[in-house]
Amino acid sequence: MPHILTCPICEEALLKNDNKLACSNNHCFDFAKEGYVNLLPSQHKKTKEPGDNKTMIHCRKDFLKKGFYDFLSPELIRIIRQLPDSDAHKVFLDSGCGEGYFTDQIKTQLNNDYIYYGMDISKEAVRLAAKRNKHIHWLVASSNNPPIANNSLDIVLKINAPLNYDNVRKKMTDNAVVISVTPGENHLSKLREHMYLKPQAHKQEETPTDFKLLQQSNIEKQIKIQTREDINNLFMMTPYYWNASTKVRQIIAELDMLETTAAFNINVYQTTNSI
Ligand SMILES: [Zn+2]
Repeated sequence: MPHILTCPICEEALLKNDNKLACSNNHCFDFAKEGYVNLLPSQHKKTKEPGDNKTMIHCRKDFLKKGFYDFLSPELIRIIRQLPDSDAHKVFLDSGCGEGYFTDQIKTQLNNDYIYYGMDISKEAVRLAAKRNKHIHWLVASSNNPPIANNSLDIVLKINAPLNYDNVRKKMTDNAVVISVTPGENHLSKLREHMYLKPQAHKQEETPTDFKLLQQSNIEKQIKIQTREDINNLFMMTPYYWNASTKVRQIIAELDMLETTAAFNINVYQTTNSI
């Protein structure tokens, strides 16, 4: 593993030593048998199992593998290929990668010599991700303050995940980019209708400080979900399920078909040289 990871306790560089990473102050982090490393010290955890719960993670894994959202990766790949000086970009981080579905698709389809990292605060998600692709460096860590050396990331991707732009900016090289994917206005509009939720415009993200907006695109697709299992996996991978009443849960559980829009906004921000 290249030396861009830092100790989450003392922030010294981590070096690989047998099957673990260690800093000069002897803080050690073992690689799990699946190949990921857990850089989330227990004192940094707000709950026992931070991040998405296991049910959400497994529902998302089962839903995504059916390919309903596969139209997203080609657009992300197109954007990455068209970045100014795309060959100069070498270190890629998927922040909040979940179980690594898109990280894996992007690495496989770009098939270049970038160094790929996937990071999520959920150990269960990263465990599944590590089983999916052994050629990506997977870490359990908080995106709030990634254990990564300053000035090392060239491309940061975040798909429907939070990001602390101020902290991540320090870890990025000059002219690096953040590719931010958020739900589009019509995302899952039909599902929301079944829940009696008024279609609401998802709030557009504002350009973060010390970044400039390089480009913006919206993509959407009609998806037809034809089994109860897939519909429920979709429902349970969203926050909607966890806030829904028993009655709404029952209505969705009994749907045999759901035809809805899947929509994503993609904003690309470039670091400015002001800091
Ligand atoms: Zn340390």
